[in-house]
Amino acid sequence: MPDDIRIPNDLDSFWMPFTPSRAFQEAPRMLHKADGVRYVTVDGAEKFDGTGGLWCCNAGHNHPRIVEAIQRQAADLDFAHTFGQGHPIAFEAAARVVDLAPGMDHVFFTNSGSEAVDTALKIALAYHAARGDGGRRMLVGREKAYHGINFGGLSVGGIGLNKGQFGTLYPSVAHLRHTWLEENHFSRGMPEHGAHLADDLQRLCDLHGGHTIAAVIVEPVSGAGGVFPPPKGYLERLREICDAHGILLIFDEVITGFGRMGTAFAYEAFGVQPDLVTCAKGMTNATVPMGGVLATAAVRDAFRQAPSKMPDLFHGYTYSGHPLASAACIATLEVYRDEDIFGNAARMATPWEDMVHGLADIDGVIDVRNCGIIAAIQLAQQGAVGDAGRAAHAKLWEAGLIVRPIGDALAMSPPLTITQAHVDEIGATLRSVLAA
Ligand code: PMP
Repeated sequence: MPDDIRIPNDLDSFWMPFTPSRAFQEAPRMLHKADGVRYVTVDGAEKFDGTGGLWCCNAGHNHPRIVEAIQRQAADLDFAHTFGQGHPIAFEAAARVVDLAPGMDHVFFTNSGSEAVDTALKIALAYHAARGDGGRRMLVGREKAYHGINFGGLSVGGIGLNKGQFGTLYPSVAHLRHTWLEENHFSRGMPEHGAHLADDLQRLCDLHGGHTIAAVIVEPVSGAGGVFPPPKGYLERLREICDAHGILLIFDEVITGFGRMGTAFAYEAFGVQPDLVTCAKGMTNATVPMGGVLATAAVRDAFRQAPSKMPDLFHGYTYSGHPLASAACIATLEVYRDEDIFGNAARMATPWEDMVHGLADIDGVIDVRNCGIIAAIQLAQQGAVGDAGRAAHAKLWEAGLIVRPIGDALAMSPPLTITQAHVDEIGATLRSVLAA
């Protein structure tokens, strides 16, 4: 960015995503540069990036190897589509992503998590149709789930505020209950109670007929709905019910993918094999937009019966496998490997857990949830829902720490490069602001 652009004169032209525009314009928060775990604002103030961008800068910001790979690629092949033609870098990126994902065979590239979700839902519907089982049209999501904001993802999503302006979208959708139970408050990592809630899927099978359900989609650790790790045994139970009824199990790993649980994907950490996995964000360390859907061989193979001159899936994006995104993806995965970023996440998970649960004694903290390098501190409601969260977010920003307010929860997902000193720093800032 040119150095002379600081606070632009016109803050009106950009229709900002998920932003209360008036409040923003009264107090614009503008970031100018980034390096490692920190941003620098236009005023030169440093902010610890407690949200890793938006759950996505897993290797920290402006990693020189990733920057250099993108620059080199832009000068080499800026763009070529992949509709019936290809470029080696996209195939290389696909192979590297699939290599990281046990049990997965193919990846379909998208540009975002929302597109990955809608793509996965469409693949699920088309999979059943390709096998002569096209009566399966129902999609099952879960309360409090965030699956992006496109038509399919919003339909299966479970955040009422996001759905309110748009009404029912996909016509045949049902939802499982969420798993945030009173008795689980202040659980460290995966809570003890709630595996039985997976039986909601069995109830839907009883009600509608398991043969009418195409897929169930869940985030293995629910993120943007407030950070809810899965109850012990819950994901296993979902898998069993899906198997009993021929339903595809989709894990939305847009947040958990690429190391946040200390393994490449959360399904590995939890020992449950899904049929489809959506990912994005950490795929390129968020430098160039890219998402994807990973599919098992069984899913992919169902499409191989198509006549050879016809596409086996009538779906794709102009930018699927974009050269810059592919280059960024390859460089990112090399950084993750060479710097043992997932290993660091695994090693730091306990210090991270200790730090967030160490804040449980602060007045007004009514729950603490964590899993891998992700956590939420739930504040008691004061006034309307969200007032306490917004106030704490503003105070923490002033104190130099960026968190993500979700209602009255403060969600955190720092870069996976964090050290003990970083964890201590985050803990000290949280304590000083929340205790006040
Ligand atoms: N799925 C999940 C689980 C997510 O957390 C998000 C974004 N936070 C999305 C999908 C949507 O991703 P995007 O914003 O890239 O469209």
